[in-house]
Amino acid sequence: MSGPARVTHASTRAAVLDLIRAAGMISRVGLVNATGLTGGTISTVVRGLIDEGLVAETGHAESTGGKRRVMLQLNHFARYAVGVHLDDARITYVLTNLGGAVVARISRAGSGPDEPAAVVGRMAGEVDALIDSVGVERDRILGLGLVAARPPALAEFGAALERATGLPVVLDNDATAAAIGEHWSGGVGATSTFAALYMGTGLGAGVVLGGTTHRGPSGHAGEIGHTCLDLDGPQCPCGARGCLEVLAGPGAVVARARADRALSRAAGLVGGRTRAAAPVAADFAAISRAARRGNARALALLERSARYVAVAARSLANVLDLEVLVLTGPSFAVAGSVYLPVLRAELEGAVIAHPVSVRLSPSAASASAIGAAAIVLQSELVPRQQALRLPEDLAADEPPVFVR
Ligand SMILES: [Zn+2]
Repeated sequence: MSGPARVTHASTRAAVLDLIRAAGMISRVGLVNATGLTGGTISTVVRGLIDEGLVAETGHAESTGGKRRVMLQLNHFARYAVGVHLDDARITYVLTNLGGAVVARISRAGSGPDEPAAVVGRMAGEVDALIDSVGVERDRILGLGLVAARPPALAEFGAALERATGLPVVLDNDATAAAIGEHWSGGVGATSTFAALYMGTGLGAGVVLGGTTHRGPSGHAGEIGHTCLDLDGPQCPCGARGCLEVLAGPGAVVARARADRALSRAAGLVGGRTRAAAPVAADFAAISRAARRGNARALALLERSARYVAVAARSLANVLDLEVLVLTGPSFAVAGSVYLPVLRAELEGAVIAHPVSVRLSPSAASASAIGAAAIVLQSELVPRQQALRLPEDLAADEPPVFVR
């Protein structure tokens, strides 16, 4: 069989599977049109995917000639993936199906000061509980995605977790995982250039360029938290001065609130005067709740932070020519209603090329765990990111879009 040379045999299966996933439903003829492969090749690949249980035939669609076509779709419950977001304060676990939809979710105490071996042992038990809660057979689980703020420190930890759970483990950082989760779940277009702006206790961004995740050689692409917004500003732990994170990140907001006795009392800040291990996330949530109750000082602190975040986000949008910015992560989950209008005002007016669509992730609190599971699915369905991405409109007669 002689399909076009641009799709190699080795990646054909993954490419066809990814097209079916991204399309939702598509006919064999639709696959031929989208890939440029012959009908014979598509037929063989699809038969293999049906035999593996990954794809199912479903219903019919009227073609233009009046002939009815069998439609294909992903068999969403054929395989599953575990996603884990590891954080000092909290560990979030999700089990997703092949389509990336969450079928189970649990949240447990964070890694805290415990010994890594103890944390790994506890996590293996929690992963078992997650899987048992749905009654999925172990051999249907493709693997476990483990994400955290600093993935290089995770390598040994990930290997231990792999031994303890018996599941293959893949690692990534939380902001990139959040972006992949948005991409996989279809929240943004398949070939979009977009960023997931992630706010936990720090600020980062996951970047997807033309449908392909951009990590950078050291995995640190999108470190928007270290954008300089004041040349003479306070020292940042990164070595520079006046970074977004030290000026306006959740830690800075919480520090200002703690210094304001009236606000501390009104918001019931739990951090109080404690230092090193003071829970920034808990106090940031308390400040957000106070703002929603109408506390003007809490609202002013958050709005000031939002203006800094918006200015840095505008630079990111201009540098990368972003189409969409998705706000995600636990801090946007609690304070998104304050940040969203400020970011929209900044990015819908003052960018160079075109207005940028800004939206709040519908699953901001668990976006990284969902993305961690999506990384597992992606590594199975789109190996080594040789993604054959879907044209935005399959019905269009334009040449297919191939993205490596
Ligand atoms: Zn910095």
